[in-house]
Amino acid sequence: MRVPFAPPFRRFIPAALLLLFFGNAFYRPVAVQGAPVGLSDLKIEYKTDPIGIDVQSPRMSWQIESGERGAAQTAYQIRVAEAPGALRSGRRLLWDTGKVTSDQSIHVPYEGPALQSGKRYYWQVRVWDRNGTASAWSAPAYWEMGLLDPGDWKAAWIEPAILEDTSKAGPAPMLRKEFTLRGEVASARLYATAHGLYEMHINGRRVGDEVFTPGWTAYDERLQYQTYDVTDLLRRGENAVGAYLGDGWYRGYLAWGDRRNHYGAYLALLAQIEVVYKNGSREIIATDGSWKASTGPIVMSDIYNGEAYDARLEKDGWATPRYDDAAWSGVRVAEHPKDILVAPAGPPVLKIEELRPVRIITTPEGDTVVDMGQNMVGWARISAEGPSGTLIEMTFFEVLDKQGNVYLDNLRDAAQTDRFILAGDGVETFEPHFTFHGFQFIRVKGYPGELTPEKITGVVIHSDITPSGRLETNKPLVNQLQHNIIWGQKGNFLDVPTDCPQRDERLGWTGDAQVFARTAALNHDVAGFFTKWLADLAADQRDDGSVPHVIPDVLSRGQREGKSSAAWADAAVIVPWTMYLSYGDERILEQQYPSMKQWVEYMRRQAGDTYLWTNGTHYGDWLAFATTRSDYPGATTDKDLIATAFYAHSADLLRKTAEVLGKDNERREYADVFEKVKAAFLREYVTQTGRMSSNTQTAYALALQFDLLPEALRPEAARRLAEDIRRMGNHLTAGFVGSSYLTPVLTRYGYLDVAYTLLNREDYPSWLYPVKMGATTIWERWDGIKPDGSFQNPGMNSFNHYAYGAVGEWMYRVMAGIDIDPERPGYKHILFAPQPGGGFTEVDAEVESMYGTVASGWKLDGNRYTLKVQAPPNTTATVRLPRATLAGVREGGAAVSAAPGVKTARQDGADVLVEIGSGAYTFVYDSPALSERVSAR
Ligand code: BGC
Repeated sequence: MRVPFAPPFRRFIPAALLLLFFGNAFYRPVAVQGAPVGLSDLKIEYKTDPIGIDVQSPRMSWQIESGERGAAQTAYQIRVAEAPGALRSGRRLLWDTGKVTSDQSIHVPYEGPALQSGKRYYWQVRVWDRNGTASAWSAPAYWEMGLLDPGDWKAAWIEPAILEDTSKAGPAPMLRKEFTLRGEVASARLYATAHGLYEMHINGRRVGDEVFTPGWTAYDERLQYQTYDVTDLLRRGENAVGAYLGDGWYRGYLAWGDRRNHYGAYLALLAQIEVVYKNGSREIIATDGSWKASTGPIVMSDIYNGEAYDARLEKDGWATPRYDDAAWSGVRVAEHPKDILVAPAGPPVLKIEELRPVRIITTPEGDTVVDMGQNMVGWARISAEGPSGTLIEMTFFEVLDKQGNVYLDNLRDAAQTDRFILAGDGVETFEPHFTFHGFQFIRVKGYPGELTPEKITGVVIHSDITPSGRLETNKPLVNQLQHNIIWGQKGNFLDVPTDCPQRDERLGWTGDAQVFARTAALNHDVAGFFTKWLADLAADQRDDGSVPHVIPDVLSRGQREGKSSAAWADAAVIVPWTMYLSYGDERILEQQYPSMKQWVEYMRRQAGDTYLWTNGTHYGDWLAFATTRSDYPGATTDKDLIATAFYAHSADLLRKTAEVLGKDNERREYADVFEKVKAAFLREYVTQTGRMSSNTQTAYALALQFDLLPEALRPEAARRLAEDIRRMGNHLTAGFVGSSYLTPVLTRYGYLDVAYTLLNREDYPSWLYPVKMGATTIWERWDGIKPDGSFQNPGMNSFNHYAYGAVGEWMYRVMAGIDIDPERPGYKHILFAPQPGGGFTEVDAEVESMYGTVASGWKLDGNRYTLKVQAPPNTTATVRLPRATLAGVREGGAAVSAAPGVKTARQDGADVLVEIGSGAYTFVYDSPALSERVSAR
């Protein structure tokens, strides 16, 4: 049997489904009125007790805990102090807001005295509920500032003075320094960054658990440094500090061909340890000309190609005192800028979890292959015992071919191979330092003795984006699709949103990020992650406003003018707007506004007075469906049409942004641009009866999704879209650009059944086809593996590409019915409107919002429809109950209008609309119409 066809359901625990609906922890009982509210989850800039932030006016958020329905904050008070004791006594406070009448509990900016480098600040909050009763003060939380001024850096940039051939990957340099501390250490911080990647060690111990530091940014303008609490690693007397440096994104192979040294040819380190002694005095140990350099066991390390580690070359004790470094070389002090250093806005990259192999096989060709059972990103940790000089080679890859043999072609030029040479002294364990691989399978060569599953572990690496969403249904294939969407994100959110993690690419493609951003924000907390990436987008945006295809830009770095592709470059506008909606974050709009505007202005210049953007260079509806059938009408959408549609859409979002930011003139200006582009679009691409000049699904989807058509033409356009899907034999033909809009547009214009047909479809092209083929992540192509088991073109056939996972947004918004009200974003006001259909009888989802858990789960049992929703304290919600009558709906056993927490309930056509305050509610009614709709084929 062909191996990738392993049953797709193996990861399901059917019992979990039973638990879904009725056993859920979040459905809390209704508590007695007047119970005191509690406060939890205090965050600063999306982080819990961060050290080393550089936002001058950091924003504070908290969650309110209350079992009561309709719980709301009516006022808050924040106080900030330099010592926790001051918070206890309420004296010597640095900042005290006093009682502020406001329901704002997220993103409240600090507005006290200027914050200072390296200082820690303690804060707490209390709130008043709707009866005017004050809560107790929250437990204190804190944040600590990083180094805010380039002058705070006493360290000098140093480069290892070792002989290197920088035209290819060579040994990873090591740096070291010994120093003496003359007293007891009260606290100590290490601030560090590098050209390349770094891994710091102090007194023989690794500093922190972050990997791929300092991360990947627009290095010319923004270089991140990390802050570590190293108090426990230091001691009075002799100490030593060391660093490994890796090529990473800075000078390793990136993009295609043999291109390396993108940002520079030499690695460098900038680090300083700031010690505060118990007697209050301070000392700084910093990189300078006295450090020593050498090479060591990491013989080669490269992101695409892997790492080679020769344990015989280990330098025992190199990061401990009294190590003999007489044979080491010196360092060069370099004049690299320090005014581009920034603290990370996003989460660090960590080892997030570990997977056990599901089996180890011998392929027909005789290779030993480990199967992790999941397409994952990271590396393998392997243990072995053997004679000195034994070479173990591991090649990482995604799929076995039709015959069950190792398939490497789709990795293109990425070797993805780790080599480990044993020192020969007992059991040795190897993990690479500066590379990552996208894989499900590992070919192992040269293993001494028998390779058993306990010897090898899959280490999953990604940005520490906290999971924030869960969605389950009664259909296992759709649950596996959700699983694949989540793993597609885990595999591609590695400091930047990459297109893929395995081949010689792994770049921050803007189009992919734009398409997936909303789904990304449902499944994980990506606020910080995208705040960082958007700052890089703005930094790499060219002088003419054009946006590079990939961010950070390694494809056209340094160009002042350039080309942009519609639907890719629009990430500049769409992603900030999506973050604003998802997290209620206005500051991200403020910060990105100049970049958003420059992008729209770029398009405006391209289009000129015609308001049509023609003749640009675009990717179009990338990877849309195609066949060689001679009568195939084609699914290729005119690139000019796509370009003008996105021009209109970005102008429209810019108008909305100007409105949020109170920029009245610009709101009017971009409203005008939007209208003019729309009119031009209509003239050029739409007939009087509503047929699009490109008669494709993507063309209709864009026109409808972006509101480009006059009201009168919309039903006809929607009908044509639905008709096209039917004509194609009930399948989608759209590619990257159009596919994520199909289900939302169909739903909005009354073709919910067609939307469900697309989702439920199991043969190619569809979302479930890869699932049926055993996929554990989202594929780049609808048919990465064809029905006959052969592969798509290896030149572009990734099995871990998140873009088509963007259907996840519709699954949450429509199937589960959790939606954002753009007027009160960030789930301040929630729209619960599940739209059952497609044969589903049970859907259950939750999203962790800034306010707390938002949940919606429904079940249809015969004609009986039960909907459970939860709105966290300090939010409100509108619940739309489909195909219901006001008299028939009960909540908690009472008539809906009389239920506690329900503000109003009214009939709205065939539905009932209920306005609720926060809390958990269970609505029940009988609806033959709904049940008929759900079971309709
Ligand atoms: C990437 C895509 C990307 C595209 C641009 C591909 O190589 O993998 O996901 O958006 O290039 O068209």
